Amino acid sequence: MTKEPRPRFDLCGGHPALDFVNSLDNRFAADGPKELLADYTDLLRFTGQTGLLEARQVRRLGSAVDPAAAARALRSARELREALAAAFYGGVEQRAPLAEDIRTLERYFHSASGHRELRWEAVLEKSPGRCGLAWDWGRFETHAELPVWILSRSASELIMSQPLDRIRACGAETCRWLFLDTSKNHTRRWCKMEVCGNRMKARRFQARREA
Ligand SMILES: [Zn+2]
Repeated sequence: MTKEPRPRFDLCGGHPALDFVNSLDNRFAADGPKELLADYTDLLRFTGQTGLLEARQVRRLGSAVDPAAAARALRSARELREALAAAFYGGVEQRAPLAEDIRTLERYFHSASGHRELRWEAVLEKSPGRCGLAWDWGRFETHAELPVWILSRSASELIMSQPLDRIRACGAETCRWLFLDTSKNHTRRWCKMEVCGNRMKARRFQARREA
């Protein structure tokens, strides 16, 4: 009997680091959040689906990593995610995250840089036709923590490169998913217009009728 395939992740955040934070769904809901990264396989599926890990890396990690290391990596991923959530929602709501969340991010960002190798590349990916030194995951590519390091790098790049007011939270209180607002006038309000935008519109319409 084949197992039911797990649903694909909804990557409407427009950046892997924001989609990663959204993987704790209904984060602020009164009846508690819903964990979409239930196990290490989910973490691999997520990093694969965002394109941060190649399919061959996902397959290799899926078969090479032992259960104890996988459980540790999943715990790390969730710890990183929650520190990112504190920083991103802090930015959205104009309040500072806790110092311990900042230290956690610092630790993961350092750890990600510390697990790469400097290599001589015959052809540089970013400058085709030229050769030179480049960073590569090298021997760390088969390490259980690779998805965590790769997500750390992606998040650190986002934090350092984007004007932070482009990172916004969905206007539906029940959703609050993060997204990168790349709209021309920076007026995007919903993670998905067809879901949250329409739901809120319907609610306002209903409220007017009842008034
Ligand atoms: Zn939404």
